[in-house]
Amino acid sequence: MGRYDRNILLKSVGESGQRKLNSSRILVCGAGGLGSTVIANLASLGVGHIGIVDNDKVELSNLNRQFIHKVTTLGMDKVESAKEWIKLYNPDIEVMPYKIRLDKNNTVELFANYDVIIDCFDNYYSKFVLSDAIIKTDKTLVHGGVEEFSGQVCTIDKNSACLACFIPELYNCSCDIVQRHGIISPVVSTVASIQAMEAFKVILNMDGVLRNTLLIYDGVRQDFRKIHLEKNKKCPSCAK
Ligand SMILES: [Zn+2]
Repeated sequence: MGRYDRNILLKSVGESGQRKLNSSRILVCGAGGLGSTVIANLASLGVGHIGIVDNDKVELSNLNRQFIHKVTTLGMDKVESAKEWIKLYNPDIEVMPYKIRLDKNNTVELFANYDVIIDCFDNYYSKFVLSDAIIKTDKTLVHGGVEEFSGQVCTIDKNSACLACFIPELYNCSCDIVQRHGIISPVVSTVASIQAMEAFKVILNMDGVLRNTLLIYDGVRQDFRKIHLEKNKKCPSCAK
């Protein structure tokens, strides 16, 4: 427990909270820019079991922001490169790599093994797969997304607004092709750190979780704002 001394000093953590973190199971969907910071934070917190879903290999152009991957892991599956990073940093953590593509047939089943799911995917098709699946379970999903200098985070469960409640126009958009836009590490790691903080609060049952709330970050103006969300009665996903 010495490793987690500074976690334990927090009143809202303590030894019992640290044991909760050590026995928690979190699934990180996407081991790219958001996934790098989320995985590093979960490993720091001492989350006992981290599942990682990704179907890609490490490329040179990833390294401006995906800092858990290295020159020495170029060409390697991202899930294996991420596992290597975690094992060097905190060998006590169990890591389960999934080199798969999630779809509506395999996602709910996978969620059953985890307490919290973190959306670090980079395309709307995959993000909606996660949001659609979470409302069929008792689990919690932390959504995050980044584009150029801004990003957003919200936390979704079956009783809250889902992703399609607030962006119904993108549902069924078949946006499974990643739009190639500029992105830098400070913005993506800011958004991902907020996602990791959400997961931490969910595991420890703390207040202030971003349910029914969209937090929007603007890295140029250094501005955070919150938008209240409600379940959309005409939501193409959860109103069915
Ligand atoms: Zn909905």
